[in-house]
Amino acid sequence: ATILAIETSCDETAVAIVRDRSVLSSIVASQIAIHQRYGGVVPEVASRQHLEAINPCLDKSLVEAGVGWSAIDGVAATVAPGLVGALLVGVSAAKALAVVRNLPFLGVHHLEGHIYASYLSAPDLQPPFLSLLVSGGHTSAICVRGCGDYETLGTTRDDAAGEAFDKVARLLKLGYPGGPAIDRQARSGNPDAFAFPEGKVSRPGGGYYQYDFSFSGLKTAVGRKVASLVETEPTLPIADLAASFQATVARTLTARTVACALNSGLDAIAVGGGVAANSYLRQQMQRAAREKGLRVFFPPLHLCTDNAAMIGCAAADHYERGHRSPLTLGVSSRLPLSQVMSLYAEAPI
Ligand code: ATP
Ligand code: MG
Ligand code: FE
Repeated sequence: ATILAIETSCDETAVAIVRDRSVLSSIVASQIAIHQRYGGVVPEVASRQHLEAINPCLDKSLVEAGVGWSAIDGVAATVAPGLVGALLVGVSAAKALAVVRNLPFLGVHHLEGHIYASYLSAPDLQPPFLSLLVSGGHTSAICVRGCGDYETLGTTRDDAAGEAFDKVARLLKLGYPGGPAIDRQARSGNPDAFAFPEGKVSRPGGGYYQYDFSFSGLKTAVGRKVASLVETEPTLPIADLAASFQATVARTLTARTVACALNSGLDAIAVGGGVAANSYLRQQMQRAAREKGLRVFFPPLHLCTDNAAMIGCAAADHYERGHRSPLTLGVSSRLPLSQVMSLYAEAPI
């Protein structure tokens, strides 16, 4: 199926045209430069920017794909999770286009989109596999059994991995977004310069939840180290701090994900979300997985961070299975991945 897809859950206005697992066009208008001066995403500003960017992005997506509306089988948009005001812009546009063009509408779960980014870059990837989703708002190890069939095996109990990158970048005065800035700084730093703790999640009866994550303690530890270094050092060793923090996150994610895959009988790991763009994580995960005989997939960088191609790819799969969303479907700031199928009804025959 050929799907026109819209993604406006956070701070990228994105429109793509996808034919099954191939991208015909993918337009991303990033608002990063606008939010940078506030040090983070301002929801009201995001909604307004989406409104301004959406129509030019729609036009560009059709021109770049070189197709007309007659080639489009359905219109999709991210409906959850995300900023409600931001989601509403994309969903309203998608519904209006669906009505005007007499096409089916499909609501898409943003995290299912991040999972489908792996299919775009590895069209031969087949379930079951373990998806590690590491983004600004989520950190989860998910068993992917098929379209709409997900079981979360591990998740963060506090900060998401990307959130930790953003908060530590703020501590190091590296600006927003923090992930790419830390990645860059860390290249000239020593990952063993400082020993930071790997956050563990205690089990009430004793021991730890093996596949869960906790990053808020790590952020606090970096903060304490920065505070003590400021007292004694003339200049902060930014590169060493960034490299040591990044290595701790990468080590934690890699060890738990590989253990989770092995113990769950899954032989492939597909990493997705903005933090999957991290060069050190890519390197460490690939090495650890190869050692254990696991296949590992990382999408190219532009498919790791938010884009509409991944949303279109997920929608195309649902479309082929006869899944359609009612035009009364609303948006939601939170929706567990296990409830993806609540977005669809079977197509009337
Ligand atoms: P979610 O998908 O959970 O709703 P989001 O859509 O805001 O959140 P993404 O766009 O998938 O998240 O990812 C953005 C996050 O990825 C930010 O926290 C950013 O700092 C982080 N990030 C981007 N590039 C890198 C990198 N090279 N290294 C580490 N983190 C990175
Ligand atoms: Mg984003
Ligand atoms: Fe995202």
